[in-house]
Amino acid sequence: MRILTIFLTVFFSYVPQSWAASCAVEISGSDSMMFDAKEINVGSECTDFTITLTHTGGLPVNIMGHNVVIVKEADFKSVVGAINMSHGAGEGYLSPESPVLAKTALIGGGETTSVTVDAGVFEKGESYTFFCSFPGHYTMMKGSFSVN
Ligand code: ZN
Repeated sequence: MRILTIFLTVFFSYVPQSWAASCAVEISGSDSMMFDAKEINVGSECTDFTITLTHTGGLPVNIMGHNVVIVKEADFKSVVGAINMSHGAGEGYLSPESPVLAKTALIGGGETTSVTVDAGVFEKGESYTFFCSFPGHYTMMKGSFSVN
């Protein structure tokens, strides 16, 4: 038993926890139209990173759909201004011409989705905004995204 304990201690000490923490982003959205984070930071050493979104609510995707979309802060107003139901749920209701840098699928209550993003499209020190592009949600479901 003691040998097993030592083995496990050694094994887990080799897991690169700091790398895993900064290159994997976990965020959740609820039925009350809220994300559980206002700020996301990704380490500049990441060549890519994974965004995992969990919808902790119970409402369906056509009523309370959530996704995570990242754009430059300077582009946020024009991107959300172009959100329209006619663009369809598959596009996250975003215009196909919008300068979107990263986007997860749109999900409903109880679902989880993730997307792996090439970190090369983000510049260190630039200001980015993440938000949910379901019509009307971006006013409450948004925050800042940065690489540093
Ligand atoms: Zn939403």
